Amino acid sequence: MSEKIAFKAEVAKVLNIVIHSLYSNKEIFLRELISNGSDACDKLRYAQLMHPELKGGAFRLTITPDKKAGTLTITDNGIGMNKQDLIDHLGTIARSGSAEFLKSLSGDKQKDMDIIGQFGVGFYASFMVADNVVVRTHKAGEENGWLWESTGTGEFTISEDKEAPCGTSVILHLKKEE
Ligand code: ADP
Ligand code: MG
Repeated sequence: MSEKIAFKAEVAKVLNIVIHSLYSNKEIFLRELISNGSDACDKLRYAQLMHPELKGGAFRLTITPDKKAGTLTITDNGIGMNKQDLIDHLGTIARSGSAEFLKSLSGDKQKDMDIIGQFGVGFYASFMVADNVVVRTHKAGEENGWLWESTGTGEFTISEDKEAPCGTSVILHLKKEE
């Protein structure tokens, strides 16, 4: 069973700009996703100090291209996200950088693109290069994993993913031209 949830208005606004504007430094999406994976590993390492029962270790990120499928997958074995985390963190503007970006929007496409570089748009930068993004994630210490999916237009869906290993995989279905 999958649940459809609308992006908060401010996310939809950022996504609209990210998707529809020509931006020349698209490779920043990778920096954002690596930084999130690295943060996730730090968070699990820290959580383990207080909850030694949490499994995990040998923290790492892997980046896997699949030319045939046209995907690029960024995987970490960090803290992972539960359903509420997905709704709160990948459905709203959680990050201060994206919030600053939103506040600075001028309506002038070129100028708005310049400030993407300045503030970064975090996870949403994925949609610069991908027209479909799938996140498979499983939070440390929890029973179940989750699958989040979106084309970046209006809404995302969340469903249970019993097979998702601990940590997070972001699967980017790359746009043809990317
Ligand atoms: P920021 O990293 O500045 O908080 P992002 O837009 O990059 O902003 O990410 C938003 C939030 O989504 C993160 O703060 C984190 O809670 C969650 N998140 C994103 N990627 C991951 C990941 N790989 N593992 C766990 N949580 C993640
Ligand atoms: Mg980030």
